[in-house]
Amino acid sequence: METYDVIVIGAGFGGPVAAKKCADAGLKTLMVERSGIPGEKVISGLVIPIYGFLFGPAFIRNGNPPIERPICSVVNRIVKGGKIAFTDHSLKVPAPVVLGYSAYCKPFCTWLADRAVESGAILRTSTTVTDLIVEGGSVRGVITETGEALRSRIVIDSGGTQNMLSIKAGIRKKFVPEAIELYMIWDFEMPKADVDRVFGTSMEFFHAMPEEKIGAPLGYGSTLYFFTYRDSIHPGLGQFLITEGKVPNVQKLLRDYFSNFTATVTRWKQDIAPHAKLRGVMWDVCPIYAGLLPETREMPIYSDGFLIVGDAAGFEAAAFGDGVPNAWFSADIAADTAIEALAAGDTSRSFLARYEEKIKADPFIIHTISDGRRWNMREILKSRDENEFRRKVRDHWGIGAFRYGNMGGPCLRAARRAVAEDGKSISSWLNMFRRYYANWEQNRFDRLSTD
Ligand SMILES: Cc1cc2nc3c(=O)[nH]c(=O)nc-3n(C[C@H](O)[C@H](O)[C@H](O)COP(=O)(O)OP(=O)(O)OC[C@H]3O[C@@H](n4cnc5c(N)ncnc54)[C@H](O)[C@@H]3O)c2cc1C
Repeated sequence: METYDVIVIGAGFGGPVAAKKCADAGLKTLMVERSGIPGEKVISGLVIPIYGFLFGPAFIRNGNPPIERPICSVVNRIVKGGKIAFTDHSLKVPAPVVLGYSAYCKPFCTWLADRAVESGAILRTSTTVTDLIVEGGSVRGVITETGEALRSRIVIDSGGTQNMLSIKAGIRKKFVPEAIELYMIWDFEMPKADVDRVFGTSMEFFHAMPEEKIGAPLGYGSTLYFFTYRDSIHPGLGQFLITEGKVPNVQKLLRDYFSNFTATVTRWKQDIAPHAKLRGVMWDVCPIYAGLLPETREMPIYSDGFLIVGDAAGFEAAAFGDGVPNAWFSADIAADTAIEALAAGDTSRSFLARYEEKIKADPFIIHTISDGRRWNMREILKSRDENEFRRKVRDHWGIGAFRYGNMGGPCLRAARRAVAEDGKSISSWLNMFRRYYANWEQNRFDRLSTD
């Protein structure tokens, strides 16, 4: 039976980052992915926020991954009686600087997995891990759906939200329903010239009081987001499984909200709909863990011979539901920990405790999973104060997103740390902004193994 140093479960956003680093360190690394092509089964929006690129693994920043559109601003609209009652456009940066990049999961994750394979990691696709091999309380490998046993000295679980392996192994528990949001995304074709004219390099959010019936009650879900791509747009919205103490029929509600939106909101009817053609439902009611409950945050993220990263560890950020940056950061930290543990010949729980220490010291991970901005919108439901509504929209999703207590503090701390570690950080960020923007303009990216 072949034995690996490290087995990484999942080739989504986090897995390839961990696999590449382990392979670069000379470890015999296997990445096991249930889908035929990396990213094919990853469910996401997706705009990857810029802090992931600036402070995540250098190979992403220095590469040419396939992106769909640079996102330089967030336009926040408050809808009242179908009309736009208030627009906040305060969160914007001048191109080529961006707030994030929109991307498709399949090509982006394939690009990441290609980099891991280039470094020497072995990728096995169409292989589902169904169980962990546990010996004397230590994880020693994985079992696949055919019953094949694959042994390793450490397993890194990057299997995402819906993967139950750590639950099956008794390490973690299921997320509670209060912490789960169901989400739905539609896919509309729209000629690039129209996306450029109607949205430019913005993504757009629509907020409203419950009586508008175009989204979950404030604070109980994601307001309606328009993710903008090269020549398509993806409106998406979500609601928590439990809303105001009740269990509503969220699957039906999400469809109803979107039908009401398209039937009543002038911005849609006049500016967007004439140029957009429905291609299909991109993700039909999928769960996102988006909770802020301490009991879900306190679940273990490591065990003997086992490290859990990204969504599987509950690291999806609570305010926007963005989880790619934390998947990258945690995968990077897990790989460092695995490398140190294997060098020391000690993969025990007590040695791997340093993984949690480093996660806690990361400027973003704990901050973003404890970020109460979205849940705090619930206060508006009680006060019904319009000025407060506008102020909170600007403070949470507009320029206030960069307040020190929101994302400003973590970004400043991470920037200071990056510059102290590498004097060339600033020039590498500027180069990335320029190169990514030029790549997008020319629609030219690195070739993928699937091309
Ligand atoms: C609707 C929606 C919208 C989102 N929008 C955004 C956004 O705009 N920006 C953002 O940053 N984040 C967004 N996220 C979150 C983001 O997609 C995740 O945080 C991110 O994908 C987490 O990376 P990961 O590696 O932990 O898991 P994933 O990327 O989900 O990767 C898990 C991988 O493991 C594989 N896998 C699972 N189980 C097994 C198994 N048993 N055996 C083998 N392989 C397995 C899966 O096929 C998959 O490839 C969104 C999520 C959802 C659901």
